[in-house]
Order: sequence, then structure tokens, then C-alpha cells
Amino acid sequence: MSVIDQVKERLDITEYIGRHVRLQKSGRYFKGLCPFHTEKTPSFYVFPDDQRWHCFGCQRDGDIFNFAMEMNGYDFRTALEELAHQANVTLREQSPQEAKTESEAERLRALLSSAISYYHTLLMTAPQAAHARAYLRDRGFTRTTVETFQLGYSMDSWDAARTHLIGQGFTVEELIKAGMLIERDDGSTYDRFRDRLMIPIYDRRGRPIAFGGRVLQPDQQPKYLNSPQTILFDKGQVLFGYHLASRAIRDQDAVVIVEGYMDVMIPHQAGFKNVVAPMGTALSEAHLSQLQRLTRRYILCLDPDAAGVHGTLQGLETARQTLDRNWEAVFDPRGLVGYEGRLKADIRVMTLPSGLDPDELVLQDPARWQDLVNASQPVVRFTFQHMLAQEKPDEPKAKSRIVDAMLPLLKDIGDNIEREAYAQEIAQQLGIDVRGLLDRLRAMDRAEAIRTQAAVRGMTSTPTRMASDLEAHILSVLMHTPEILPRVDALLGQLDQDPLTDRDFGLDYRIIWSAWRHQADHPNLELADSLPSDMLDLVESWLAQALPEMTLAQWERDIVRTVLRIRERALREDLQRANGTLGAARLENETDIVAGERRRVMQISDALRKVQWALAQRLAQG
Ligand SMILES: [Zn+2]
Repeated sequence: MSVIDQVKERLDITEYIGRHVRLQKSGRYFKGLCPFHTEKTPSFYVFPDDQRWHCFGCQRDGDIFNFAMEMNGYDFRTALEELAHQANVTLREQSPQEAKTESEAERLRALLSSAISYYHTLLMTAPQAAHARAYLRDRGFTRTTVETFQLGYSMDSWDAARTHLIGQGFTVEELIKAGMLIERDDGSTYDRFRDRLMIPIYDRRGRPIAFGGRVLQPDQQPKYLNSPQTILFDKGQVLFGYHLASRAIRDQDAVVIVEGYMDVMIPHQAGFKNVVAPMGTALSEAHLSQLQRLTRRYILCLDPDAAGVHGTLQGLETARQTLDRNWEAVFDPRGLVGYEGRLKADIRVMTLPSGLDPDELVLQDPARWQDLVNASQPVVRFTFQHMLAQEKPDEPKAKSRIVDAMLPLLKDIGDNIEREAYAQEIAQQLGIDVRGLLDRLRAMDRAEAIRTQAAVRGMTSTPTRMASDLEAHILSVLMHTPEILPRVDALLGQLDQDPLTDRDFGLDYRIIWSAWRHQADHPNLELADSLPSDMLDLVESWLAQALPEMTLAQWERDIVRTVLRIRERALREDLQRANGTLGAARLENETDIVAGERRRVMQISDALRKVQWALAQRLAQG
């Protein structure tokens, strides 16, 4: 039985959905108000017999996995991990090392929970926290908001938190690992957070991972002190407020991205719950991939000073490079030349009045916040206005710089009419001919199409391509031409490589691969029976797209090459990890681990050499 089936069997879908939706029994099914669209009479049904749910209002439907994904904005992998955890199903055998890391993580989460309630109780009741309470009152915080975000206070003491948490049964070593203590050179320790407003930081599943501490005295530095990087906390990954915002982001189909804790908490307090903030870092790929499961509409809330504008533009660049694109086939008179990407996202910029932070603005006038959100400008227009202000648009050289900056943004606009309208607007304001602009856009499209085509044929390497793209490429080609698989395996054999197996795929694509293989052995089965619906959509989108014109023999080699590249990449990563562990083990004088890791490094290096040899053979050349 697959892991998916085991989870379904062990978890009661009615009970699981019932935690989020008030369900009423009616005959053989349950119904309630749909959590995914607004309604007054229930059209959301749960069918325990088939373990499925369906909404007759918004036509969403699915199984327990889809529900967890929709409800929490999880990707399939996270949903699988979370539900498997709840169902007590082991996804795969954990190595002793992984099991150790996981139990350590559990322990640190328990420690942080304990610290959260300790700090929170101090904030609410301790006489020493009076100034913290006064500060929150001045900043406009209500008691509910303080509770919702579980804000707290850390005593002006070198050891109060340490003493309390050790009293709760945690060790000094655990306190250091959780980032609560700082270790001096002589091995003694002291509390990291002293006399600060404590803001707990949660992961997207709502589990505590770190703290932010804000100063309460004007002369203290730094203004914000965060937990250090720990096994739980990777600040480049985290969006503050995400676990409280995800539902509103999905409901409103838009996310507002701000800069700080206060800018998240005060809008939440005023009912604007679709607001999150990165942890003092630029918007990263990891942030965007979490968000794009919930919405395609991103509103960047801009600090009006110059640095803010710069940061926003940088964030936009990340967004452009990261977000999903719709791949469209591009034709020229000789036939298909490749695929071009259009951004599947609507990115806007919201500009605040000078000198006002989001929290100040919301407190002054909540309605104004909504107006500004509504008035947010499409990124094309925002960037253009910014360039106009920065450059002297009368000078020919400045004109061409502006055009160069605008072209990639214009190219990303999926809708042709919209695209031409913006091109028109830009041409008009710069006093240039719009046809010239549109010609350059078409030339860029063609160049990109040829590049992708070359990449598909393996003529050039595309370093930005991620492993999952390579996996998707293999699966989509195989689904179009299943007959090449035996030949691919034979070619791999000639190169002294194992046949293609599920180990060549990451978890998501492994599910598709296994379902597809299973179906090959059971011709009366449909893929739809064994795939979650979003994966089925993906497979269907592959099948709907014609492959570029190549012979079967060319495809066979293309797939062999792709498999080898995936293996090479995976082995390189393994090697890096093993070397890292080896280095750490040496430092710690863990001789057993050193010996084991050294063996592993040698094994991986051997395997890597074999793959590289295979890649260099003529069989694997284009
Ligand atoms: Zn619905």
C-alpha cells in the first residue's frame, strides 16, 4: 500500500476537515460552509465513504491532501509530511542521523514553546515589564493582538531565562542550540535576550522556531535582535506572520509584503490579515515559492525612501526570476523554435506617503490602507515612473537605458493587449516609436525561444535550471514517447549505469513516476486513480503540449543525458554534505563518524566519477 493510501486509511477525513470547518451530518455525508469561498448556505460536502470532499459552490474538490494543501498553502510534499506525521506513517526509513536530528528539533521546539509562555506571562503580569506594556499601548497594540502573536518580555537579567528553562528540564546545551544563550570563550553562558519585547517567530506550520527581540530603551542597540541561525531557523526562508496570514492570502487572492514585525502585526489587528514580512532579508526564492501556492498577486509595500525603492526593485527582480511561468510554444516560419515563459503573476507596488510606516498609517486611518492597496501600481508602471524620475528622459542615451530596463518587464506580461498598452504608454512618454519597441520585444522572444530550444537539445547548458525541471522534462518526454524507455535503460546499461528508477526523482515527481510505471503494468488503471489532482493537472498539461520535433533516437539520448545530469547533480550535493559532516566530525574528534563519513565520501566520489565518465561518452553526446 502506498504511503498516500496508508495516510488516507489512518486519518479520518471528516475529523481532519472538521478542525477547520463546522460540519453537520446529513445522511451518508457531512456538509458545512466552504472555507474556500464566501457563502451563507452550505455547499461544501465531505464524503467519508470515498474519502473525498467537494464544494458545489466553487467547484473545488479533492482528498485529504488537497484539503491540507488548499487550507494551509502547503505544497504536496509538506502536506504529505504533515499528514504522514499525524497518521504516524513513516515516509521512508530514517537514518539514525536523521532520526536524531528530528528528535532534537522536536526538543528545541518544546523549549521554544516553553520560552514563549514564560516571556508572555512576564509581559502580562511582571511589575518589571510595565515599560514594555506601556510601549505596546503607545504603539497601539490591543490585548488581543498581544495574545494572538504571543508577545512577551525578557527580563533585564543575564540568567533569568536560563534559570527558568533549566527549571523546566532543558539543558544548557539545548538552550545554546535553540539560540537562547550566548556562550562566552570560557564556556560560561548568558541570556541572549535581555530587557526586550519578545516576538515569537513561527514556521509555516505554526511551530515556534525563533524569536525577534525589540529594544525598549532608546539608547540600546541593536533595535531588533533575532535568534541566530539554528537547526529550526533559517531566516532566508521565513515569512513573519505567514501561518496567521495564509488563509487570508488565499481568500483575498493577494498578499501584501511589508518590511517589519510591527508592519505585519498592526495591519492584522485592523483586519488586514494578508500581510507578511521577510526576516530582514530581500525577498527570496524560498519566500516566493511558499506564497505562490496561495496567490499569484503580490503587492510590495514600499518604504518611500530611496533605499526602500532600491530594495523593492531588487525584490521584484527575484520575483521575476523565481515565479512560475507559463511556457508557450513559439513558432516561426520553419516550425517550432521553442518555448517562452510568461510570468504567471501580477506584481504590484504600493507606495506609502512619505515618512509613514505601515503600522502608523493603519492606526491613523485603516480605510486609507485599503485605498493604497487598491491603488497599487503594476510593476511595469512603477519601474517606469521610477526610471523617469532617476534619468533625464530627454536625452537619447537615457531613453535607451530606460527602454533596456523596461523590455524584460514588458516581455513578462502574459496578456498581449496589456503588453501593447504598456508599450504604447512608455513610447508615448519617451516620445519614441512604439513599433520599434514592439520589434525589440519580438526579437527578444525569438532569442529566448532559440536558447530554450538549444537547451532542450542539450546544445548549451542552462545552469539556472533546477533538478525538478530536469525531472519534469524526463517525465513529460516519456509520457509522449513511452516506447523509448527500454532503449533508455539499455543505453544507460551500456554506460555502466543503473536503469532509470524512482530514486532519480524527488518526492513530488517520484509519485508521478511510480503512478505511471504502475499504470504501465495495469493497463486498465487510469493515472487519475493514483495521482493527487494537482499532479494530474501537471501531467495533463505536459501531454497537451507537443514535443519539439526530434527523432526517437534523439529523444533517447536526450533522456539519457538528462538522467546523467540529475545523477551528477545529486552526487555533487551528497558529496558536499558528506564532506561537511566529515569536517564537523573531525573538529569534534568523533573518530567513528570520521571513519564512516570518509568511506561515504569515497563511495560518492567513485559514483560521481562513473557518472562523469558516462556523460563524456559518445553515447551521451547530442
Ligand atoms: Zn467553495
